[in-house]
Amino acid sequence: MKKLGLFALLISFMLVLSACGGDDNASGGGDSDGELIGIAMPTKSSQRWVDDGNNIVKQLEELGYQTDLQYAEDDVDKQIEQIENMIVKGAEVLVVASIDGTALSNVLEKAAEQDIEVVAYDRLIMETENVSYYATFDNFQVGVLQATYIEEALNLAEAEGPFNIELFGGSPDDNNAYFFWDGAMSVLQPYIDSGKLVVQSEQTEFEQAATMRWDGNTAKSRMENILSSAYSDGETVDAILSPYDGISRGVIQALIGVGYGSGDLPLPVITGQDAEVASVKSIIAGEQTSTVFKDTRDLAEVTVNMVEAILNGEEAEVNDTETYDNGVKVVPSYLVVPNSVDIDNYEEMLIDSGYYTEEDLQ
Ligand code: BGC
Repeated sequence: MKKLGLFALLISFMLVLSACGGDDNASGGGDSDGELIGIAMPTKSSQRWVDDGNNIVKQLEELGYQTDLQYAEDDVDKQIEQIENMIVKGAEVLVVASIDGTALSNVLEKAAEQDIEVVAYDRLIMETENVSYYATFDNFQVGVLQATYIEEALNLAEAEGPFNIELFGGSPDDNNAYFFWDGAMSVLQPYIDSGKLVVQSEQTEFEQAATMRWDGNTAKSRMENILSSAYSDGETVDAILSPYDGISRGVIQALIGVGYGSGDLPLPVITGQDAEVASVKSIIAGEQTSTVFKDTRDLAEVTVNMVEAILNGEEAEVNDTETYDNGVKVVPSYLVVPNSVDIDNYEEMLIDSGYYTEEDLQ
């Protein structure tokens, strides 16, 4: 009995030892040694980035990592400074959603000198070789979804038209903005060429439609100008291509300001992106028509896998090695699938999936 007891004690001692694991084991099994991961996000002014940051931190902390999450309020220099601080604090991997995708070459050079690898989060970091992976959504498809929504809502394939549309683009310093635009134009351009869709403002180029820093007020002013210059003769707008919910809400304010949404002047079909709470409420209220839901929980998961692969010296899972050329190299990417959301499917997509609660949207 006594011998057996001693033996059992020895075995349990060995089990405890192996459960604690050596340093090498700990990183191999998917848990961490508590490494610090720096997470640089663009701004808290848009709800999606707040969700993104929270989701990444939650998932990394569950695995035992330490995190340093910073928001730069769309100030490029501030973001650079925050990344510099993360390097100084000893971050082992950086996850960066850039403000200006072309402005980070120098600071990422400093990271590379310390062997710190970088995951570009949602927005591609341009003009640098110092970015290991890109975690994003299928950005071209986002534009296709937005434009297809308009195509179907106006029944462009069958209806005679013509219909008036105005086009809004995203921020010209964000590579995604070009993908959204190109995806949307792949659907809309043939209708513009045939005259079924008319852009009364004649602002049909990305450069004319772009919205610096995705700013809702900038979009609102542009819409006000277009309404007074191109729609004062009785023409009305039937559709707005908007690449982002914040822009959509600015445009809606301008439209309501001149009487749309009341009397016999309905609001046009208005797209969006991110399924921000304010815009889902607007959809429920019958103002904004649609949005594109990008599940930030899934993007966080893809990102965390990339971080772990880097720390373990393994290759991360990617599903696109051709599309995202940052000017120096094609960055291996994982593209998550985006989904169109409107009044008919928001409950299923956003509430049943647990992304929002019913109360969030009241
Ligand atoms: C993101 C979009 C977002 C936009 C404005 C883009 O880079 O991909 O989801 O709507 O930035 O924040």
